[in-house]
Amino acid sequence: MSAISASDIISILKTEVENFNWDAREREVGTVIWVGDGIATIYGIDHAMYGEIVVFDNGVKGMVQDIRKNEIGCILFGSDTGIKEGTKVTRTKKKAGIPVGSGYIGRIINALGEPVDGKGEIPFEDYRPIEEEAPGITQRKSVNTPLETGILSIDSMFPIGRGQRELIIGDRQTGKTSIALDAILNQKGKDVICIYVAIGQKASSVAKLVSTLEHHGALDYTIVLVSTASEPSSLQYIAPYAGTALGEYFMYQGKDVLIVYDDLSKHAVAYRALSLLLERPPGREAYPGDVFYLHSRLLERSSRLNDELGGGSMTALPIVETQAGDVSSYIPTNVISITDGQIFLESDLFFAGMRPAVNVGLSVSRVGGAAQTKAMKKASGSIRIDLAQYREMEVFTQFSSDLDESTKQQLQHGNVLMELLKQPLAHPLSLHEQVMTLCIANNRIFDAVEMKDVKEFQRGILEFLDREYPQIGYEIEEKKVLTDELVEKIIEAAKEYKSR
Ligand code: ATP
Ligand code: MG
Repeated sequence: MSAISASDIISILKTEVENFNWDAREREVGTVIWVGDGIATIYGIDHAMYGEIVVFDNGVKGMVQDIRKNEIGCILFGSDTGIKEGTKVTRTKKKAGIPVGSGYIGRIINALGEPVDGKGEIPFEDYRPIEEEAPGITQRKSVNTPLETGILSIDSMFPIGRGQRELIIGDRQTGKTSIALDAILNQKGKDVICIYVAIGQKASSVAKLVSTLEHHGALDYTIVLVSTASEPSSLQYIAPYAGTALGEYFMYQGKDVLIVYDDLSKHAVAYRALSLLLERPPGREAYPGDVFYLHSRLLERSSRLNDELGGGSMTALPIVETQAGDVSSYIPTNVISITDGQIFLESDLFFAGMRPAVNVGLSVSRVGGAAQTKAMKKASGSIRIDLAQYREMEVFTQFSSDLDESTKQQLQHGNVLMELLKQPLAHPLSLHEQVMTLCIANNRIFDAVEMKDVKEFQRGILEFLDREYPQIGYEIEEKKVLTDELVEKIIEAAKEYKSR
């Protein structure tokens, strides 16, 4: 029997050390110590990062949301029925992300990026984290291109620019979703990719919206991401971030994206449920302390990128529901302060037949004016002031019956403007139609028309102008300016139509 020499032992040890398989040790496995209400507490993987994905034995995934001494809390992205005390959990070392790609356009997906429209697998090109840092100041460019909604009251008075974040706020059933939907329908042929994120809504409402999109051929450029009220809060919580990740994929390719979050009130409620279950201390209205950050980090990701980064943009239309018109409650004030303006919808207007029920006094757009076309700027110049005067006078004249002639005229003009701002669903007006309408209104040609005939007159005249003088509309669309000469031509034509 030959003795093993010391040098042999050393060389064996050396190769062992060199070939040591680190991977095996890095696989960290923990154990569930508590589970319930879509939350699990895990022991043994305390090195896990915040936001990391962990996988349970039965294949369900979870996301780390709370890191405490000796244990972590995580939210589950699936049913907790197969998970018990003692179930093994493995770290993935990956942050939550979703697959992205142009194959998603025209599809309906859930918050994990899986198709829910029964049209089969979606081919993907990349994988993006759902939480991503917003572009920095130097990576951005100021808003300078309009995003036309096709809604006269918005495009004329509260214009939205590409890369802007404009809040749509109002009580329940005031037409919030309809405005966002009309804005999506109006992007047809404008090279804008639309993403509609439905959070905490009834499945039937989403189905109705999808069929409207389909009916108008708008699904060809739209992605619908749904997380209905019946889904776990965790999925409702990540839905807007997942939608934004998809939007970013297109934005960084230099494309223009429009994203609608319908709605962020329900999103905040889902987050509140998770936070309370994770035993975070409740604050105002029982929301956790970081609910401002919840929405600011989401909406900051919408931006207009500079030319080096391709010049893409992501315009956000978040929706927030108020209770009895109260904009001073927690979530509305937060989101109002994060966004670049709001479109305030009012129940009273809505029931009085003023649809879309935009409250002209309380709505603003802080950056969109820079993006408005010259033609629109010129045409819409005085409409806000006229309407403000009209509102003031309306209140004041309720008490007196004999009015002087100029007051009567001003009231009549205000009434006509309000009538013109009414717009049925899915009837977007193009730039030239809006400019012509405003131009004719400014020259008080509608004022002599009887109130009940105003809408009909407007429709007729626009049709007449397009048929008899197509070059006027063409020039406005092409050059996007409204010369005095064009104004004159429009007025002439309007008079001609009226005399018939
Ligand atoms: P919810 O609070 O339930 O989400 P919402 O504020 O999103 O409601 P919508 O669902 O958009 O409101 O609209 C409510 C109803 O008003 C719908 O039946 C819709 O058809 C109608 N409506 C909205 N806008 C208009 C409009 N411009 N003209 C006619 N009807 C409209
Ligand atoms: Mg709605």
